[in-house]
Amino acid sequence: MAVEALDEAAAISADLIALYIPMHTATRMAAELLPRLRTMNPAAHINCYGLYGPVNSNYLKSLGADSVVGGEFEGPLVDLARGLLAGNAPSVPLVSLAKQVFQVPRRSDLPALSHYGKLNDGRDGSVVAGYTEASRGCKHTCLHCPVVPVYKGKFRIVQRDVVMADIRNQVAAGARHITFGDPDFFNGPAHAMALVQSVADEFPGLTYDVTIKVEHLLRHADLLPTLVATGCVFVTTAVEAVDDNILAILDKGHTVDDFHRAVALANDLGLVLAPTFVPFTPWTTLAGYANLLTTIADLDLIDHVAPVQLAIRLLVTQGSGLLGLPDAGEMFGDYHQKALSHVWRHPDPAVDALQIAVAAAAETGDSDGLTRRESFHRIRALAQKAAGLPTLAAPIDQATPLPVPHLSEAWFCCAEPTVRQFANLGVAI
Ligand code: SF4
Repeated sequence: MAVEALDEAAAISADLIALYIPMHTATRMAAELLPRLRTMNPAAHINCYGLYGPVNSNYLKSLGADSVVGGEFEGPLVDLARGLLAGNAPSVPLVSLAKQVFQVPRRSDLPALSHYGKLNDGRDGSVVAGYTEASRGCKHTCLHCPVVPVYKGKFRIVQRDVVMADIRNQVAAGARHITFGDPDFFNGPAHAMALVQSVADEFPGLTYDVTIKVEHLLRHADLLPTLVATGCVFVTTAVEAVDDNILAILDKGHTVDDFHRAVALANDLGLVLAPTFVPFTPWTTLAGYANLLTTIADLDLIDHVAPVQLAIRLLVTQGSGLLGLPDAGEMFGDYHQKALSHVWRHPDPAVDALQIAVAAAAETGDSDGLTRRESFHRIRALAQKAAGLPTLAAPIDQATPLPVPHLSEAWFCCAEPTVRQFANLGVAI
């Protein structure tokens, strides 16, 4: 549904409709779609499956879903389909963490890979990208992370032969790059390294990207040269903040100094880092935000950060670990069902105003085709002014970015759906 319009004939004739909601964006789209599906086909069993299902179960059911399952959902979905075929009332667990023997995903019914986000090499060239997962869940329990309420510090491996077959099929369908969607590729480093070696052996020239937390980049520094040698063109790493107090509150497992060390390590190896941030939290200050931008500039990371990353506001999902903080009651307000988040306001209204201005600048920069550098300097001017700091002259080379590989869609799991994605559902926003 992210790239094509709803097939109404299929929806009307189906006995079972299942919507995949692995992240916030998809869940927001599913919430719009559910009432339409329910009206079109009152008799169908409608299921929502994926990471965001369990914490939003009541809401999704109020919109028309009959069942919801998160975690390792394939087994329960098969049981559900078999139960419906046999005429039984199906019982679907809200969360399954059962270890599974996976099957190779059948993606041939999906739109062509060229319809999805591509890998941009940073020089205006792009190649078709595929997607797979070598693991799910996460060993860690960062407080703000939506993986934690479902997996609770556990992770599950997808068997290597299944991942390889999935990649093989996508390469045959035109993929020249693979995005590994694992929450953290180094939760199982032995599995990860054996896999990328097999990928490089079988598909020389195929590139890939992975997500690895700062702590793991440092702990497994000895593995990073192999990533470079096997075709890894960038590593997304969730830095979140450059303030040790905020990092400690979020229980991120790294410090600002660790981030600096990870950047130095990556630079030495020629490994491109794509840091992600949650710059706007209840603990953010105007000076702290300006310092974040200064840090990004000082580390030569301006071209590595999608401008939208500079506008992200902390999302407090239902069941979030953040709700267990001692002062959570004062910080986080009621749960806003449609937004899928607890509402919160910063104690300093100027911080909220800056967030709105930065989000607008990032969006305008995107629609006006500005480089990351140009958007960054617009945002930095806003931040400096808000913090009462002097305006900084933009460097003269701001329109000539470094060639940093990135995906054409600045994907991040807390993104709101785009106008086009809502239009595919027949919903105007
Ligand atoms: S933020 Fe990353 S490392 Fe932390 S729990 Fe979530 S997936 Fe794991």
